[in-house]
Amino acid sequence: CPLGPALLFVKTSQGKGEGRRFYACSACRDRRDCNFFQWEDEKVSETRLAAREKYNRNHQPSFTHRQNVERYKKFILLPLPERRFCQESEWENHSGHQFLCGISTAQLQTPSQLLYPLENKKTNAQYLFTDRSCQFLLDLIIDLGFRRVLSVGTPRLHEMIQSKVSQEEDFRVRSLLLDIDFRYSQFYTEDEFCHYNMFNHYFFGGEAAHETCRKFLHQDNGERVIMVTDPPFGGLVEALAFSFKKLMAMWSETEKEGRNSQEMPMVWIFPYFFESRILEFFPSFSMMDYQVDYDNHALYKHGKTGRRQSPVRMFTNLTPSMIVLPVEEGYRFCTICQRYVSSGNQHCEICNSCTSKDGRRWKHCVLCKKCVKPSWFHCNNCKCCALQSHVCEKTDAGCFVCGKAGHKRSTCPSLSHT
Ligand code: SAH
Ligand code: ZN
Ligand code: ZN
Ligand code: ZN
Ligand code: ZN
Repeated sequence: CPLGPALLFVKTSQGKGEGRRFYACSACRDRRDCNFFQWEDEKVSETRLAAREKYNRNHQPSFTHRQNVERYKKFILLPLPERRFCQESEWENHSGHQFLCGISTAQLQTPSQLLYPLENKKTNAQYLFTDRSCQFLLDLIIDLGFRRVLSVGTPRLHEMIQSKVSQEEDFRVRSLLLDIDFRYSQFYTEDEFCHYNMFNHYFFGGEAAHETCRKFLHQDNGERVIMVTDPPFGGLVEALAFSFKKLMAMWSETEKEGRNSQEMPMVWIFPYFFESRILEFFPSFSMMDYQVDYDNHALYKHGKTGRRQSPVRMFTNLTPSMIVLPVEEGYRFCTICQRYVSSGNQHCEICNSCTSKDGRRWKHCVLCKKCVKPSWFHCNNCKCCALQSHVCEKTDAGCFVCGKAGHKRSTCPSLSHT
């Protein structure tokens, strides 16, 4: 499909055995954005293949990245009043789109503020970091001594780094942005941005873009590089993990000085209720208590200022004790767990760990042999803890959405946040 190789899914219906397998778009969860569909065993005729190829060609941006870079160079030579910019796209028809006039050089350095976030589209789900969260991430990266950041779906982090590069002479950190939003090609060169799909590890720019990424990872013998990613939360963890492992493998190709068994340092930003899914694919990762929050997401704001606590966390293979969380925002260091935790996260003597996932104080259930949310009670029927108001269900299989036992898809705690 236009977004690269499709993924193989399986359609299951209750009690009907194996289910039937089909290919669909890797990135679009909304059929209106991409309606590619093909049964696995379906024969596709030559005519349909040709039509599909034509469709794919027609659904590529009308300017290449190279052309956009040339346009940028011409644009910055224009007198201010002639610098007009469409906030939605650069290549479709512009009727009904918002224009900005008199674009300054400073504005060109913060494209994420210039572009209209594509949040209404399920496909892109662009939720931009608050300055607070972005600065925290960058400070952490610098304090840990990293020099290169592979920014996968983190345009605002990339942009913070890029503008420091152009403003501060002794700023040493560099960033390469990989993102599916091709509008960024209007602001960054081919060495700064690759048009990339993180659900199928597809570089739209082909081998040349691949090579750009490889080179970036291999600079300085592959040392002091970290990958930071903030994928759309509705995304398939398995597909994302597959791509991230490919990127890690790309880094490992350097394999000099016996670094073979090491993993590329990585921070994956995602909601806490995906913890078990992420750990399934990356057992070396741990979840940090730091609450990441967003400018254009009313629900995912920081506890103190927003309406509710953000459920978004950092998952990382860095040593937890090295990740210092700001005490002034209410984090403290647990000497037993050797990591910073939310102030409300009490160390449980029985679990021997700080067990809260959401920042509230959790309570230990002796029957479940683990800590549970403060609002939960042990149900003797279900033989596990749940909300008092839950409907008892026989659940032999795990939940369809998060894979955990104890509830069905209809009551999955992860759905109440999206
Ligand atoms: N908080 C980040 C933005 C995260 S929003 C920041 O402020 O920098 C998710 C980002 O992932 C968006 O930039 C979006 O364009 C990008 N994205 C969405 N789907 C993608 C895909 N399939 N492949 C690559 N990037 C994708
Ligand atoms: Zn602890
Ligand atoms: Zn406990
Ligand atoms: Zn219990
Ligand atoms: Zn019950």
